Amino acid sequence: MRYPFDRLIRADAVVVGSGIGGLTAALAMAPRRVLVITKGDPGGGSTPWAQGGIAAAVAADDSPAEHAADTVSVGGGLNDPKAVKVLTSAAPERVAALEAIGVHFDADVEGHLLLGREGGHHRRRVLHSGGDATGAEMMRALVRAAAGADHVETLPFAFAADLVTDGGRVAGVTARTDEGEKVLALAPAVVLATGGIGRLYANTTNPPEVTGDGLAMAARAGARLADLEFVQFHPTALASGRDPMALLTEALRGEGAVLVDDDGRRFMVEVHPDAELAPRDVVARAIWARLQAGGRVFLDATAAVGASFPERFPTVFSLCLEDGIDPQTQPVPVAPAAHYHMGGVATDLEGRTSLPGLWAVGEVSCTGVHGANRLASNSLLEATVFGHRAGQSVRAAAAPAVEATAAFAAADPGPAPGDVSGPVADLRRTMWDQVGLVRNGGGLTSALEHLDELALLLPFGASEARNMVDAGRLIARAALARPESRGAHYRSDFPAPDPAWAAREPVGA
Ligand SMILES: Cc1cc2nc3c(=O)[nH]c(=O)nc-3n(C[C@H](O)[C@H](O)[C@H](O)COP(=O)(O)OP(=O)(O)OC[C@H]3O[C@@H](n4cnc5c(N)ncnc54)[C@H](O)[C@@H]3O)c2cc1C
Repeated sequence: MRYPFDRLIRADAVVVGSGIGGLTAALAMAPRRVLVITKGDPGGGSTPWAQGGIAAAVAADDSPAEHAADTVSVGGGLNDPKAVKVLTSAAPERVAALEAIGVHFDADVEGHLLLGREGGHHRRRVLHSGGDATGAEMMRALVRAAAGADHVETLPFAFAADLVTDGGRVAGVTARTDEGEKVLALAPAVVLATGGIGRLYANTTNPPEVTGDGLAMAARAGARLADLEFVQFHPTALASGRDPMALLTEALRGEGAVLVDDDGRRFMVEVHPDAELAPRDVVARAIWARLQAGGRVFLDATAAVGASFPERFPTVFSLCLEDGIDPQTQPVPVAPAAHYHMGGVATDLEGRTSLPGLWAVGEVSCTGVHGANRLASNSLLEATVFGHRAGQSVRAAAAPAVEATAAFAAADPGPAPGDVSGPVADLRRTMWDQVGLVRNGGGLTSALEHLDELALLLPFGASEARNMVDAGRLIARAALARPESRGAHYRSDFPAPDPAWAAREPVGA
């Protein structure tokens, strides 16, 4: 019998994605044999790009309960309180676990951790590394730990195309390597850790590989999804024409940087009592309104950070210099950009999805911790807390080994994609214009019609582009189905929250 794949790999678990969520889960599964399939090299994804840091109540004047209160206060009433409690209570021990694998957090000469503050946090509780290179430091340590772990094998430069199922259970994935090899990986546990959906938008801070693959795969397999309409737009990306846009971390505003208009006037003081440190959706829409009116907006850190820029924010400093701006002495032009997806594949507190055999962790998942809006620096935290719990859950699960039966004979990841840059650019523009930070019913309906047309243009094998269209349609449909504004979801035709939409179904239910 001829199979449509070139190689069959069997493992106890397959993890798709090698960011903080995927590698944390894989490490926690020992001694189970884990195959990590990842699109690029194992250090890719959004994780190494994370700047500001990871939130944890480690200061003497702070507590997990206060961290939880701040998390809920920006979440528009939709946070799952049980998930928030798990997140904030486990934060200090997960920070210690990261230190144990070699993550170095910035500290003063006496060894006291240096804690930053960001929007929505009422305490200094953001740990950072290398100033604003927190994600790169975490990724370095995680990749090294995974490389040294006997139970973890990595298949890099391999695109996971689809989940395969057997008798109602998820039983593996199909994948295609960059060399064109077709792989069928069978395992009784599959963990999606594919990150978010930033690349669906014309303006984004996310790397190109973040294309909503896990969300689309889970949807095709029939997994329960949640909160898809809630996409976070970061207020301050560097408006210099890059794609992706460079992020100017919120920690800059935490250190006192201010937002000014063309006349050098601080406008956030009139918009919200917390001014520049108001929740992200509030700041992003205030900037958006000024840009739509034809003005420009700048982040001015000249007084608050000034000469300490190269040391405190080296990543942002060099990105600005590359674009000819010296942020020590010049205000930096900014614009909002798609940054983070609060919604995703619904999971319980152990990362289990509604499908037997399938877990989801990190940004692709929806544990319910963020509700309608994510508190800054809570996403690395969510990925490490729930990634670890999911890994432990997979380790403990007594699932039968998957036999390579005829059920998988048709598992084909498809041929290598041709050039689909035209439809993809069209999709990204449509999402930005009509499913972006200000939406309305007419725009969402027309976006859905256009995405349907784009789907017809994609050839067989264009799996990534198809995932982008599928994920875009899911987000647009969810946005259309919520006739109110809440958190990051803003409808100009329904600009107020509607109490009828204030409650959430528990995500793991
Ligand atoms: C510029 C920037 C700054 C940020 N700053 C912060 C911050 O300071 N604090 C904070 O808490 N959060 C921050 N975030 C958000 C945070 O970085 C992410 O939410 C988090 O890193 C997501 O981790 P993850 O493991 O879920 O996914 P990622 O790190 O995105 O990893 C996804 C992985 O999945 C792989 N993958 C995807 N699709 C496939 C497929 N089909 N087949 C195989 N592999 C696949 C990718 O190659 C990658 O390895 C920032 C994000 C960005 C973009």
